[in-house]
Amino acid sequence: MERRFNPLDLSDNAQGHQICLPVEFVQALAVANSLQEVLDTVSQWLYQLFDAERASITLRDDADFLKIYSIRGNKAIPLDFRVPIANTLVGRAFTEKTVLICDELDKSTELDCIMLAQHGMQTCMDAPLLYGDVCLGTLNVAHKKSYYYSELHAIELQCLANWIGLNISLRLQLKELEYLASTDHLTGAANRRVFTQKIRQAITEFHENGQSFFFGLMDIDHFKMLNDQFGHSAGDYVLQRIVAISETMMTSPGKFFRIGGEEFAIIFPEQSEYEPLRFFNDIREAIALAAMDYDGIPISVSVSIGFTAMHIHDNTPESLLRRSDKALYQAKLAGRNRVHMFNSAQA
Ligand code: GH3
Ligand code: MG
Ligand code: MG
Repeated sequence: MERRFNPLDLSDNAQGHQICLPVEFVQALAVANSLQEVLDTVSQWLYQLFDAERASITLRDDADFLKIYSIRGNKAIPLDFRVPIANTLVGRAFTEKTVLICDELDKSTELDCIMLAQHGMQTCMDAPLLYGDVCLGTLNVAHKKSYYYSELHAIELQCLANWIGLNISLRLQLKELEYLASTDHLTGAANRRVFTQKIRQAITEFHENGQSFFFGLMDIDHFKMLNDQFGHSAGDYVLQRIVAISETMMTSPGKFFRIGGEEFAIIFPEQSEYEPLRFFNDIREAIALAAMDYDGIPISVSVSIGFTAMHIHDNTPESLLRRSDKALYQAKLAGRNRVHMFNSAQA
């Protein structure tokens, strides 16, 4: 049997009823530092407050799937399982923005109910996480006994969902803002703002614990000509491809940045098994050999790279940028599609 409750009728159905929350729960939410901590706190308390065999939280992943972010108790539906919105009870609670209780899981034909029943649960209850008109995801609890959850349980779960919805929505917006502020929207590469932070951090780490690095500037060759010949959108496509190729060549994450229109910065930590000249040359070569095809037109493109080693006298990014830029200029002068290391004799 299935029961459903409209979140807009909560106060009609629960005249005079109050919900009571443990102070520890409210406190834990107040000090949570990230979205994940908020979700873990909520699932832990759902598990206790609803005497659940299993408690979980899903958030919308895309148009067809919900993603499970936190689970307490039984792992009948594991964390890495993408929950389809179609043919699941939780998917209906999400799209219909309604609290749903399934009292006899073993009689249901919906995928999530079947998975829960196979792991010994008999009742489950899902409530939509609402923020205004938007449904962000769901709060879910399940119990071993059939017909375990009452209408008051449904009201309480929905009250919690309404209360938490604002918190989750703000955290999601913050994550989105952080992403937008640090990412170049055309290519998805880290932007100049992140570059400034990371290079300063690398310089500090070098002075504090001796982790040395090489710093490269990469510039597309004759890019203006490419734009003129094939059009600006073809140029944009080439920028995206160059970022994708370079990022797969990086030996550690978060060290590649788009710092200007067709200029990129690379921080390469010193490592004995991979020479910097070989590393930068591998990137150059991968780009020169890449088969690029824009709207059926084959395009080939090359880059020039200038790089320098971190030096004991470098205290700010400016001196590193100046030396790499000189080496880049030498690479361009020598004919492009090549890598030059800064050489003080040529400076
Ligand atoms: P060089 O080999 O000396 O570097 O020559 P170049 O033509 O690459 O250098 P130049 O500085 O003359 O031109 C850079 C061009 O990059 C001009 C500009 O229109 C183009 N560009 C900068 N940002 C973008 C972008 O986001 N998309 C596209 N399509 N082109 C861009
Ligand atoms: Mg340039
Ligand atoms: Mg250029």
